[in-house]
Amino acid sequence: MSEYDLVIIGAGPAGLTAGLYAARARMNVLLIEKAVPGGQVLITDWIENYPGFPEGISGFDLAEKIKEQALGLGLEIETAEVKGLDLSGKTKEVILKEKRIKTKSLIIASGASPKRLGVGEDKFMGKGVSFCATCDGPFFKEKVLVAVGGGDTAIQESLFLTRFAKKVYIVHRRDELRAAKILQERAFANDKIEFIWDSVVTGMDGFFSVEKVTVKNVKTGDESKVDANGCFIWIGILPNTEFIKGDVNTDEGGFILVDTKMQTNVPGVFAIGDVRDTPLRQIATAVGDAAIAAVSAEHYVENL
Ligand SMILES: Cc1cc2nc3c(=O)[nH]c(=O)nc-3n(C[C@H](O)[C@H](O)[C@H](O)COP(=O)(O)OP(=O)(O)OC[C@H]3O[C@@H](n4cnc5c(N)ncnc54)[C@H](O)[C@@H]3O)c2cc1C
Repeated sequence: MSEYDLVIIGAGPAGLTAGLYAARARMNVLLIEKAVPGGQVLITDWIENYPGFPEGISGFDLAEKIKEQALGLGLEIETAEVKGLDLSGKTKEVILKEKRIKTKSLIIASGASPKRLGVGEDKFMGKGVSFCATCDGPFFKEKVLVAVGGGDTAIQESLFLTRFAKKVYIVHRRDELRAAKILQERAFANDKIEFIWDSVVTGMDGFFSVEKVTVKNVKTGDESKVDANGCFIWIGILPNTEFIKGDVNTDEGGFILVDTKMQTNVPGVFAIGDVRDTPLRQIATAVGDAAIAAVSAEHYVENL
Protein backbone atom coordinates (compact mmCIF):
# COMPACT_ATOMS: atom_id res chain seq x y z
CA MET A 1 0.00 0.00 0.00
CA SER A 2 1.66 3.26 -1.09
CA GLU A 3 -0.66 5.36 1.03
CA TYR A 4 -3.11 4.13 3.67
CA ASP A 5 -6.45 5.76 4.39
CA LEU A 6 -5.72 5.36 8.08
CA VAL A 7 -2.81 4.34 10.28
CA ILE A 8 -3.41 3.59 13.96
CA ILE A 9 -0.58 3.64 16.52
CA GLY A 10 -1.02 1.20 19.42
CA ALA A 11 -3.00 -2.03 19.78
CA GLY A 12 -4.57 -1.59 23.19
CA PRO A 13 -8.37 -1.73 23.43
CA ALA A 14 -8.59 1.75 21.88
CA GLY A 15 -6.40 1.04 18.84
CA LEU A 16 -7.88 -2.42 18.23
CA THR A 17 -11.42 -1.07 18.39
CA ALA A 18 -10.60 1.80 16.02
CA GLY A 19 -9.05 -0.79 13.69
CA LEU A 20 -12.14 -2.97 13.93
CA TYR A 21 -14.43 -0.09 12.95
CA ALA A 22 -12.14 1.11 10.14
CA ALA A 23 -11.65 -2.38 8.68
CA ARG A 24 -15.40 -2.96 8.80
CA ALA A 25 -15.88 0.34 6.96
CA ARG A 26 -13.50 -1.06 4.30
CA MET A 27 -10.85 1.60 4.82
CA ASN A 28 -7.26 0.75 3.88
CA VAL A 29 -6.09 0.65 7.47
CA LEU A 30 -2.85 -0.41 9.16
CA LEU A 31 -2.38 -0.78 12.92
CA ILE A 32 1.20 -0.52 14.23
CA GLU A 33 2.01 -2.09 17.63
CA LYS A 34 5.44 -2.32 19.19
CA ALA A 35 4.62 -5.20 21.54
CA VAL A 36 1.96 -7.90 21.84
CA PRO A 37 -1.52 -6.56 20.93
CA GLY A 38 -3.67 -5.95 24.00
CA GLY A 39 -2.01 -3.02 25.79
CA GLN A 40 -2.44 -2.60 29.55
CA VAL A 41 -5.30 -5.11 29.52
CA LEU A 42 -2.66 -7.82 29.23
CA ILE A 43 -1.34 -6.93 32.69
CA THR A 44 -4.85 -7.01 34.16
CA ASP A 45 -5.60 -10.30 35.79
CA TRP A 46 -9.39 -10.17 35.83
CA ILE A 47 -11.84 -7.59 34.48
CA GLU A 48 -15.25 -7.32 36.11
CA ASN A 49 -16.44 -3.95 34.84
CA TYR A 50 -16.50 -4.43 31.07
CA PRO A 51 -20.08 -4.89 29.83
CA GLY A 52 -21.08 -8.22 28.38
CA PHE A 53 -19.08 -10.43 30.74
CA PRO A 54 -21.18 -10.78 33.92
CA GLU A 55 -18.81 -13.40 35.33
CA GLY A 56 -15.77 -11.26 34.47
CA ILE A 57 -13.05 -12.07 31.95
CA SER A 58 -9.27 -12.30 32.14
CA GLY A 59 -7.39 -9.40 30.59
CA PHE A 60 -5.65 -11.79 28.24
CA ASP A 61 -8.92 -13.31 27.00
CA LEU A 62 -10.57 -9.92 26.48
CA ALA A 63 -7.56 -8.65 24.52
CA GLU A 64 -7.59 -11.82 22.39
CA LYS A 65 -11.31 -11.49 21.69
CA ILE A 66 -11.02 -7.87 20.58
CA LYS A 67 -7.96 -8.70 18.46
CA GLU A 68 -9.62 -11.73 16.82
CA GLN A 69 -12.73 -9.69 16.02
CA ALA A 70 -10.61 -6.97 14.39
CA LEU A 71 -8.47 -9.45 12.43
CA GLY A 72 -11.62 -11.27 11.32
CA LEU A 73 -12.87 -8.03 9.79
CA GLY A 74 -9.63 -7.67 7.84
CA LEU A 75 -7.46 -5.46 10.07
CA GLU A 76 -3.74 -5.61 9.24
CA ILE A 77 -1.37 -5.39 12.22
CA GLU A 78 2.35 -4.67 11.84
CA THR A 79 4.79 -5.18 14.71
CA ALA A 80 7.04 -2.12 14.89
CA GLU A 81 7.77 0.81 17.16
CA VAL A 82 6.77 4.23 15.93
CA LYS A 83 9.77 6.53 16.31
CA GLY A 84 8.35 9.78 15.01
CA LEU A 85 5.74 11.56 12.91
CA ASP A 86 5.89 13.96 10.00
CA LEU A 87 2.61 15.86 9.86
CA SER A 88 3.88 18.80 7.81
CA GLY A 89 2.31 17.81 4.48
CA LYS A 90 -1.21 16.87 3.40
CA THR A 91 -0.06 13.25 3.46
CA LYS A 92 1.00 12.28 6.96
CA GLU A 93 4.05 10.08 7.56
CA VAL A 94 4.63 7.62 10.37
CA ILE A 95 8.32 7.04 10.94
CA LEU A 96 9.53 3.53 11.84
CA LYS A 97 13.15 2.43 12.27
CA GLU A 98 13.49 1.12 8.70
CA LYS A 99 10.84 2.98 6.72
CA ARG A 100 8.17 5.66 6.58
CA ILE A 101 4.48 4.86 6.12
CA LYS A 102 2.24 7.32 4.30
CA THR A 103 -1.35 7.85 5.36
CA LYS A 104 -4.26 10.21 4.80
CA SER A 105 -5.33 10.09 8.46
CA LEU A 106 -3.84 8.97 11.75
CA ILE A 107 -5.17 7.76 15.09
CA ILE A 108 -2.80 7.89 18.05
CA ALA A 109 -3.76 5.19 20.57
CA SER A 110 -0.42 4.66 22.28
CA GLY A 111 -1.85 4.62 25.80
CA ALA A 112 -0.18 5.52 29.06
CA SER A 113 1.99 3.88 31.66
CA PRO A 114 1.53 4.26 35.41
CA LYS A 115 4.50 5.90 37.07
CA ARG A 116 6.46 3.25 38.92
CA LEU A 117 8.01 3.58 42.37
CA GLY A 118 11.06 1.71 41.13
CA VAL A 119 11.41 -0.37 44.31
CA GLY A 120 10.98 -3.81 42.74
CA GLU A 121 7.20 -3.67 42.48
CA ASP A 122 7.17 -5.03 38.92
CA LYS A 123 7.55 -8.64 40.09
CA PHE A 124 4.34 -8.25 42.14
CA MET A 125 2.22 -6.93 39.26
CA GLY A 126 -1.09 -8.80 39.48
CA LYS A 127 0.15 -10.33 42.75
CA GLY A 128 -0.75 -7.53 45.11
CA VAL A 129 0.55 -4.50 43.24
CA SER A 130 -2.03 -2.53 41.29
CA PHE A 131 -2.60 0.87 39.78
CA CYS A 132 -6.38 0.59 39.51
CA ALA A 133 -8.80 0.41 42.49
CA THR A 134 -11.89 0.23 40.28
CA CYS A 135 -10.36 -2.81 38.64
CA ASP A 136 -8.66 -4.66 41.47
CA GLY A 137 -10.18 -3.33 44.72
CA PRO A 138 -12.86 -6.07 44.92
CA PHE A 139 -10.11 -8.71 45.06
CA PHE A 140 -9.01 -7.39 48.47
CA LYS A 141 -12.09 -8.03 50.62
CA GLU A 142 -11.18 -7.80 54.34
CA LYS A 143 -7.48 -7.38 53.46
CA VAL A 144 -4.94 -4.78 54.55
CA LEU A 145 -3.68 -2.45 51.84
CA VAL A 146 -1.06 0.22 51.39
CA ALA A 147 -1.89 3.07 49.01
CA VAL A 148 0.81 5.46 47.80
CA GLY A 149 0.17 9.09 46.85
CA GLY A 150 -1.49 12.26 48.09
CA GLY A 151 -3.36 13.65 45.09
CA ASP A 152 -7.02 13.43 44.10
CA THR A 153 -6.62 10.03 42.48
CA ALA A 154 -4.84 8.52 45.47
CA ILE A 155 -7.46 9.72 47.95
CA GLN A 156 -10.51 9.05 45.77
CA GLU A 157 -9.29 5.57 44.95
CA SER A 158 -8.30 4.83 48.56
CA LEU A 159 -11.81 5.75 49.65
CA PHE A 160 -13.10 3.30 47.06
CA LEU A 161 -10.78 0.61 48.45
CA THR A 162 -12.34 0.96 51.91
CA ARG A 163 -15.51 -0.60 50.49
CA PHE A 164 -13.56 -3.86 50.36
CA ALA A 165 -10.43 -3.69 52.51
CA LYS A 166 -10.51 -3.76 56.28
CA LYS A 167 -7.65 -1.23 56.48
CA VAL A 168 -5.97 1.14 54.04
CA TYR A 169 -2.68 2.82 54.99
CA ILE A 170 -2.05 5.87 52.79
CA VAL A 171 1.66 6.56 52.50
CA HIS A 172 2.41 10.14 51.50
CA ARG A 173 5.81 11.80 51.20
CA ARG A 174 4.61 15.09 52.69
CA ASP A 175 2.70 16.00 55.85
CA GLU A 176 -0.33 17.32 53.98
CA LEU A 177 -2.35 16.21 50.98
CA ARG A 178 -2.63 17.80 47.54
CA ALA A 179 -6.11 16.31 47.12
CA ALA A 180 -9.28 18.42 47.07
CA LYS A 181 -10.46 19.44 50.55
CA ILE A 182 -13.72 17.49 50.26
CA LEU A 183 -11.77 14.31 49.53
CA GLN A 184 -9.44 15.04 52.44
CA GLU A 185 -12.43 15.48 54.77
CA ARG A 186 -13.90 12.16 53.67
CA ALA A 187 -10.56 10.38 54.08
CA PHE A 188 -9.94 11.85 57.56
CA ALA A 189 -13.47 10.83 58.62
CA ASN A 190 -13.06 7.26 57.38
CA ASP A 191 -11.95 5.00 60.22
CA LYS A 192 -10.57 2.38 57.83
CA ILE A 193 -7.95 4.87 56.56
CA GLU A 194 -4.73 5.61 58.44
CA PHE A 195 -2.14 8.03 57.09
CA ILE A 196 1.59 7.41 57.20
CA TRP A 197 2.94 10.94 56.71
CA ASP A 198 6.34 12.14 55.47
CA SER A 199 7.04 8.69 54.15
CA VAL A 200 7.86 6.79 50.97
CA VAL A 201 7.66 3.12 50.05
CA THR A 202 11.16 1.69 49.62
CA GLY A 203 10.47 -2.01 49.10
CA MET A 204 8.09 -4.97 49.12
CA ASP A 205 8.43 -8.55 50.26
CA GLY A 206 6.38 -11.67 49.80
CA PHE A 207 6.57 -15.26 48.59
CA PHE A 208 3.79 -15.54 45.97
CA SER A 209 2.29 -12.10 46.51
CA VAL A 210 2.82 -8.96 48.58
CA GLU A 211 3.09 -9.66 52.32
CA LYS A 212 5.05 -6.67 53.64
CA VAL A 213 5.62 -3.14 52.41
CA THR A 214 8.69 -1.25 53.61
CA VAL A 215 8.06 2.38 54.47
CA LYS A 216 10.73 5.00 55.15
CA ASN A 217 10.16 8.26 57.01
CA VAL A 218 11.88 10.92 54.89
CA LYS A 219 12.41 13.23 57.91
CA THR A 220 13.87 10.73 60.38
CA GLY A 221 15.19 8.10 57.95
CA ASP A 222 13.51 5.37 60.05
CA GLU A 223 12.31 2.32 58.11
CA SER A 224 9.46 0.02 59.14
CA LYS A 225 7.58 -2.89 57.55
CA VAL A 226 3.80 -2.76 57.22
CA ASP A 227 1.98 -6.12 57.03
CA ALA A 228 -0.16 -5.72 53.92
CA ASN A 229 -1.73 -7.89 51.21
CA GLY A 230 -1.49 -5.31 48.51
CA CYS A 231 -0.02 -2.00 47.43
CA PHE A 232 -1.85 0.46 45.17
CA ILE A 233 0.37 3.07 43.53
CA TRP A 234 -1.02 6.47 42.46
CA ILE A 235 1.90 8.74 41.95
CA GLY A 236 0.75 9.72 38.46
CA ILE A 237 0.77 8.29 34.96
CA LEU A 238 2.83 9.08 31.94
CA PRO A 239 1.46 9.22 28.38
CA ASN A 240 3.30 7.07 25.84
CA THR A 241 4.18 9.99 23.59
CA GLU A 242 7.97 9.80 23.22
CA PHE A 243 7.53 9.73 19.42
CA ILE A 244 5.44 12.94 19.40
CA LYS A 245 7.85 15.82 19.43
CA GLY A 246 5.49 18.80 19.57
CA ASP A 247 3.56 17.51 16.52
CA VAL A 248 0.18 17.90 18.27
CA ASN A 249 -1.04 19.99 21.20
CA THR A 250 -0.91 18.41 24.64
CA ASP A 251 -1.77 19.47 28.18
CA GLU A 252 0.92 20.14 30.81
CA GLY A 253 1.21 16.42 31.56
CA GLY A 254 1.79 15.56 27.90
CA PHE A 255 -1.71 14.11 27.31
CA ILE A 256 -3.04 14.89 23.84
CA LEU A 257 -5.82 17.47 23.58
CA VAL A 258 -8.75 16.59 21.30
CA ASP A 259 -12.18 17.91 20.37
CA THR A 260 -15.48 15.99 20.60
CA LYS A 261 -14.59 14.10 17.39
CA MET A 262 -11.30 13.02 19.02
CA GLN A 263 -9.44 15.22 16.54
CA THR A 264 -6.25 16.97 17.60
CA ASN A 265 -5.26 20.46 16.47
CA VAL A 266 -3.92 18.83 13.27
CA PRO A 267 -6.76 17.99 10.83
CA GLY A 268 -6.95 14.25 10.18
CA VAL A 269 -4.94 13.36 13.28
CA PHE A 270 -6.95 11.86 16.14
CA ALA A 271 -6.05 10.68 19.67
CA ILE A 272 -7.99 8.18 21.79
CA GLY A 273 -7.91 6.23 25.04
CA ASP A 274 -5.41 6.72 27.82
CA VAL A 275 -3.05 8.89 25.76
CA ARG A 276 -5.57 11.70 25.52
CA ASP A 277 -6.61 14.27 28.09
CA THR A 278 -9.61 12.52 29.69
CA PRO A 279 -11.27 12.35 33.13
CA LEU A 280 -11.46 8.54 33.18
CA ARG A 281 -9.03 5.93 31.87
CA GLN A 282 -10.83 2.62 31.46
CA ILE A 283 -11.42 0.04 28.72
CA ALA A 284 -15.02 1.19 28.22
CA THR A 285 -13.95 4.82 27.70
CA ALA A 286 -11.07 3.78 25.41
CA VAL A 287 -13.34 1.79 23.09
CA GLY A 288 -15.92 4.60 23.10
CA ASP A 289 -13.25 7.09 21.99
CA ALA A 290 -12.16 4.60 19.34
CA ALA A 291 -15.58 4.29 17.73
CA ILE A 292 -15.88 8.09 17.50
CA ALA A 293 -12.36 8.53 16.10
CA ALA A 294 -12.68 5.77 13.48
CA VAL A 295 -15.91 7.26 12.12
CA SER A 296 -14.39 10.77 12.28
CA ALA A 297 -11.34 9.55 10.32
CA GLU A 298 -13.60 7.89 7.74
CA HIS A 299 -15.50 11.16 7.22
CA TYR A 300 -12.23 13.10 7.06
CA VAL A 301 -10.83 10.84 4.31
CA GLU A 302 -14.12 10.87 2.36
CA ASN A 303 -14.09 14.67 2.35
CA LEU A 304 -10.49 15.08 1.19
C1 LIG B 1 -3.15 -3.07 36.33
C2 LIG B 1 -4.26 -2.45 35.56
C3 LIG B 1 -5.54 -2.93 35.70
C4 LIG B 1 -6.58 -2.37 35.00
N1 LIG B 1 -7.82 -2.91 35.13
C5 LIG B 1 -8.85 -2.38 34.43
C6 LIG B 1 -10.18 -2.92 34.56
O1 LIG B 1 -10.42 -3.87 35.30
N2 LIG B 1 -11.16 -2.32 33.85
C7 LIG B 1 -10.95 -1.26 33.02
O2 LIG B 1 -11.88 -0.81 32.38
N3 LIG B 1 -9.70 -0.71 32.89
C8 LIG B 1 -8.67 -1.25 33.57
N4 LIG B 1 -7.42 -0.68 33.48
C9 LIG B 1 -7.25 0.48 32.60
C10 LIG B 1 -7.21 0.03 31.10
O3 LIG B 1 -6.31 -1.04 30.94
C11 LIG B 1 -6.80 1.19 30.21
O4 LIG B 1 -7.68 2.27 30.41
C12 LIG B 1 -6.85 0.77 28.73
O5 LIG B 1 -5.98 -0.30 28.49
C13 LIG B 1 -6.45 1.93 27.83
O6 LIG B 1 -6.42 1.46 26.52
P1 LIG B 1 -5.54 2.19 25.39
O7 LIG B 1 -5.74 1.38 24.16
O8 LIG B 1 -5.85 3.63 25.35
O9 LIG B 1 -4.02 2.11 25.88
P2 LIG B 1 -3.07 0.89 26.26
O10 LIG B 1 -3.84 -0.24 26.81
O11 LIG B 1 -2.02 1.51 27.11
O12 LIG B 1 -2.44 0.41 24.88
C14 LIG B 1 -1.52 1.22 24.19
C15 LIG B 1 -0.72 0.35 23.22
O13 LIG B 1 0.12 1.21 22.44
C16 LIG B 1 1.37 0.59 22.25
N5 LIG B 1 2.40 1.61 21.96
C17 LIG B 1 2.82 2.60 22.79
N6 LIG B 1 3.77 3.35 22.19
C18 LIG B 1 3.95 2.81 20.95
C19 LIG B 1 4.81 3.13 19.84
N7 LIG B 1 5.69 4.17 19.89
N8 LIG B 1 4.75 2.37 18.71
C20 LIG B 1 3.87 1.31 18.63
N9 LIG B 1 3.05 0.96 19.66
C21 LIG B 1 3.07 1.70 20.80
C22 LIG B 1 1.62 -0.12 23.59
O14 LIG B 1 2.58 -1.17 23.45
C23 LIG B 1 0.20 -0.63 23.92
O15 LIG B 1 0.00 -1.94 23.39
C24 LIG B 1 -6.35 -1.26 34.14
C25 LIG B 1 -5.05 -0.75 34.00
C26 LIG B 1 -4.02 -1.34 34.69
C27 LIG B 1 -2.62 -0.81 34.52
